[in-house]
Amino acid sequence: MAQTGDDQPQEFPAQQQEPPGLTDEMQPVPDHGERSYQGHGRLAGLKALITGGDSGIGRAIAIAYAREGADVAISYLPEEKPDGEATAALVAEAGQRCVSLPADLTEHRACVDLMETAVGELGGLDILVNNAGYQMARSTGIEEISPEQLDRVMRTNLYALFWLTQAAVRHLKPGSCIINNSSIQAYDPSVSLLDYAATKAAINNFTVNLAAELGPRNIRVNAVAPGPIWTPLQPATQPVEKVKAFGQDTPLGRAGQPAEVAPAFVFLASPAEASYVSGTVLGVTGGKPVF
Ligand code: NAD
Ligand code: MG
Repeated sequence: MAQTGDDQPQEFPAQQQEPPGLTDEMQPVPDHGERSYQGHGRLAGLKALITGGDSGIGRAIAIAYAREGADVAISYLPEEKPDGEATAALVAEAGQRCVSLPADLTEHRACVDLMETAVGELGGLDILVNNAGYQMARSTGIEEISPEQLDRVMRTNLYALFWLTQAAVRHLKPGSCIINNSSIQAYDPSVSLLDYAATKAAINNFTVNLAAELGPRNIRVNAVAPGPIWTPLQPATQPVEKVKAFGQDTPLGRAGQPAEVAPAFVFLASPAEASYVSGTVLGVTGGKPVF
């Protein structure tokens, strides 16, 4: 079982990291379903690319997909190699192939190259999970968001997602799918995440619109909108006071674990279970509304 309210700490220990953040430096280390996720062959024989698959929600998706029978390619930033290797080992433990692809996806060429390598190494592609993302919380006004920060947020969250999807589409056959990682921030934006929240609203719009375009080819496009999830992104980009109380403002009163988000990505990827599900955004928010 994934952790639930009873065994979850109410407050996280004070901690900070530099982006992108590493798993082993977190207290507590997140639950990615290592001990709990049980596969049932839902993705048997499929091939998935998960960006940001080294850590957090991406690692939990990689574990779940592998235990459901999929081969997996993961991308991550070169400095996240220790996390990438740990995820790759977990996929291998599940008896599936893991292709590790370090790359900075803020450049168009890197996205095109990543897709070509992933498809070549996996021998095709059935599932694209656009999961990589970046944010940096700020305490100052909109005037203080630097062009560099705005550029990094837009490039990581939107441009890379767009470029990877463009590069993927010609490889995707009928029955395949794209799943984007959105956020509760698309619906209930925090002032401190003005730029990031805007990218997540755009991802929702992109998701429904692309679902309309690709529906006639029987390619499904969906998104998951997580609430506050305990991942390296948080201590690396939020002030320490926010980290300590992280997730307490949800109806369930706590942050979620990556292991609690991955099943939504499994459902949406499953050709049998989600065969008629496209153009939707599935909330995994601890009770906050997604409308
Ligand atoms: P995470 O830090 O574990 O994962 C984010 C990953 O994005 C990193 O591991 C990194 O590999 C990748 N990434 C960042 N910049 C990149 C770049 N320039 N090039 C290539 N890869 C890059 O954190 P996470 O919380 O699991 O984040 C995964 C997704 O979940 C993100 O899209 C995030 O916006 C979304 N999300 C997270 C939360 C949360 O509370 N943690 C809530 C809603 C949505
Ligand atoms: Mg990481």
